[in-house]
Order: sequence, then C-alpha cells, then structure tokens
Amino acid sequence: MLPSRVHLAHLPTPIWRHDALDELVGTEVWVKRDDMTGGAEAGNKIRKLEFLLADALAQGADMVMTCGAAQSNHARATALVARQYKLDCWLFLRVRDSADEARLGNLMLSKLTGAAVHFISPAQYAERQELMQQAAAQQARAGRQAYVIPEGGSNGLGALGYVEAMREVHEQAQLGLAPKQFDCVVCACGSGGTAAGIALGLGLTGLAPKALAFAVCDDSAYFDRVCAEIFKQARALRPELPEPAPLELNDRHQGPAYGIMSDEQKDFLQDVAARCGLILDPVYSGKALYGLSRLDQKPKRALFIHTGGLPGLLAQAQAFEPPV
Ligand SMILES: *Cc1c(COP(=O)(O)O)cnc(C)c1O
Repeated sequence: MLPSRVHLAHLPTPIWRHDALDELVGTEVWVKRDDMTGGAEAGNKIRKLEFLLADALAQGADMVMTCGAAQSNHARATALVARQYKLDCWLFLRVRDSADEARLGNLMLSKLTGAAVHFISPAQYAERQELMQQAAAQQARAGRQAYVIPEGGSNGLGALGYVEAMREVHEQAQLGLAPKQFDCVVCACGSGGTAAGIALGLGLTGLAPKALAFAVCDDSAYFDRVCAEIFKQARALRPELPEPAPLELNDRHQGPAYGIMSDEQKDFLQDVAARCGLILDPVYSGKALYGLSRLDQKPKRALFIHTGGLPGLLAQAQAFEPPV
C-alpha cells in the first residue's frame, strides 16, 4: 500500500526565473520556490513531514520528537505542524552552551508553539537517535505515545516528499511552466533526505540526468552512505521506484563552519537579494547557489531547489550589518 500523506504544503510551488540571477550564477537557473511551501512552516521540511506526520497519526501517536541544531528549520516546521494536528512536540537541539543561544528566528518560533525544547551537547547529539528512543520509551511508561522523527526528517519515508516534488516539476514542465529537461537539479544537503528524494524522483521522471547536492556539514563520503541507506528504505516502501539518478555530492563550499558564511558567500547572498529580490538563507540555500556559481563545469540549465530557511537568516542579523 502506498504510504499516506497529510496536506501541509501549498502546492505546486512556483518555478521562478530572473535574468540577473543567470548573470550572478553564470548559467541558466530555474528556481523551484520551495521557500514558498507555506507560511511560518515554509521550506523543504514540510514536504517530508506530509509523509512522516501521516505515519505518526496512523500509529496513534499523541506526540512527536525530533532534533536538530539550535536554529533548525526542521525543528521549527515540525513544532508548527505538530500543533496543527494537536500533537505535543519535543525538540532536542544541539548547543555548545544553551545560555549563548539567542531566542531568535527558528528557536523563537518553535518556542511560540509551546514545544518542549531540550538543549543537548554536541556529544549527546552524536547519540541523538538513541536519546530520542529512550525519551520515547520513558513517555510510553507514562502512557504517552511518541513518534520519533530523525534529524531533518531524512529517512526513506520523508524522502518520498521530494520524489513527489520532482513529479510536481515534471507536471509543471508538461504544462509549459518550465523546460522539459534540465542538465542538473541542485540543492543544499544537511541531512540527505532532500537530495536522496530528488535523485529518486529524477530516476522516476527523467527530468534531469543527475542531481548535485552541496553539503553544508559533514563530507561527501558521509552523505554517500546516508543517501544509499535512504534509497534502500524508500524503495522498500515504494517497490515501483526505479534506481535513483546519479547523485553528486560536493563538500567544497561549506564556508568557515556549519551555519557561518565566508565574506564571499555573504556578498553573493546580498547581491542576489539586491539584484533579484530573492532572499537565500545563510546556512543552506545561500551556500548551495554560491557553490553552483563557483563550479568550473557548470550545467547549462539547472533547476535550483530553494529550500527556504528565512528564519535562520533573521537570526543572523548581526552578521549582515552593512559595513560602515
Ligand atoms: C534542512 C534544510 C536543507 C537540507 O535538506 P536535507 O534534506 O536536510 O538535506 C536545505 N535547506 C534548508 C533551508 C533546510 O532547512
């Protein structure tokens, strides 16, 4: 049976172009506006959550647990949609020192929903799945049923959201809203589910011969392993899915650290905003599109998935103070 899905995202999201963006990136770029999947819950994560939340509800869960960085877009999206479905939400957020975490952006929004925020250390975060399973087991003894969503919603079930996204673009192309063929689909990669879902969706639709994902943390070898596992899980859930298209991981444009941009990356984000009226985010989409602009061998025609992340940018106001 096909996994069921709840309705969270406003679909189809637009496909958008700007001549100045082609100039800034140095190739033909079509932008899939998944930053417009919703209101405060917008971004790529609610495509995955359509499947994950449906599963949680089917299992009779009365709460969800998930994890991420302090400014996790996924944690914020999960907190919001959990509330919409009357589920409690526990967030396990990685911090070096909880006193340092400004209650801005994503963290502020998550807190507004009343989600229970548990700050954990990087060492605890390394064991995040076990930690959440233990918390869920403890809640079970208190008569609660928790559904644990992995980091980024990135498992085989969540990735189906991006298989469907590629089917959506394919349909838009049939309607004349986008080219029928791209050289490459480009996205940022933080936990792998988006990139893996895209590669599977390309295998299904033939919209492009390959996917290119810019890792914002960890390295290509790590994501090769993660995505291989997600492919396996997704194809077990949907045996009719063909082999994924080749997925190329690029880990050379991470900038100084996760969540932090180099001056060149910041300038690029600012130029895109000033010349195109398109706001990228400093953790994911800004680094991925910058990475595309820096490739020696660029695809001639790329579909760039704008995965959202606006609250994360707003949490970094200080990093973007105009020079005096
Ligand atoms: C989570 C996220 C990504 C990365 O997607 P993954 O499926 O976790 O790899 C990209 N962009 C934004 C804005 C995100 O929040």
